[in-house]
Amino acid sequence: MTDKEIFKSLCYGREVKVPESAVFKYCRPGVVCRHCQKPIKEEDFAVHSGYWFPHTWYPCHKGCLSELAGTEAYDCQVIDADCNDCKHFERGKQVNASGTLSRTLFPAIGTKPGYCSKRSCNVEATPNHCSNFPCFEHRKKR
Ligand SMILES: [Zn+2]
Repeated sequence: MTDKEIFKSLCYGREVKVPESAVFKYCRPGVVCRHCQKPIKEEDFAVHSGYWFPHTWYPCHKGCLSELAGTEAYDCQVIDADCNDCKHFERGKQVNASGTLSRTLFPAIGTKPGYCSKRSCNVEATPNHCSNFPCFEHRKKR
């Protein structure tokens, strides 16, 4: 049984042996769709993994999954207000002390260097992090 099959069984109240896998510490079992708030028939069941850490699992309709993921990601990014999703962030571009533009390599994890075209300075983006910058404007129009 996969983790998603075990989660589905938990949602429908079936007794299953739950492994000590950490993923089940972060789930909200139920049979109501996180997106449309309507009951989910078993054949329409899908698992939505939340945007923010610890990426809590929620039930949703197969047909709602894509829209739910996109909507939630956008809303969370607006709340995070970090350079990573800002339209003024120029990824990988940095201006050195002499004013010359240069490209930098992204670190494997963590912050990503770039340039803010609104504030005219080097910045570091931090994905999945709440920075709450008042100058933030999402890179995508809604
Ligand atoms: Zn739904």
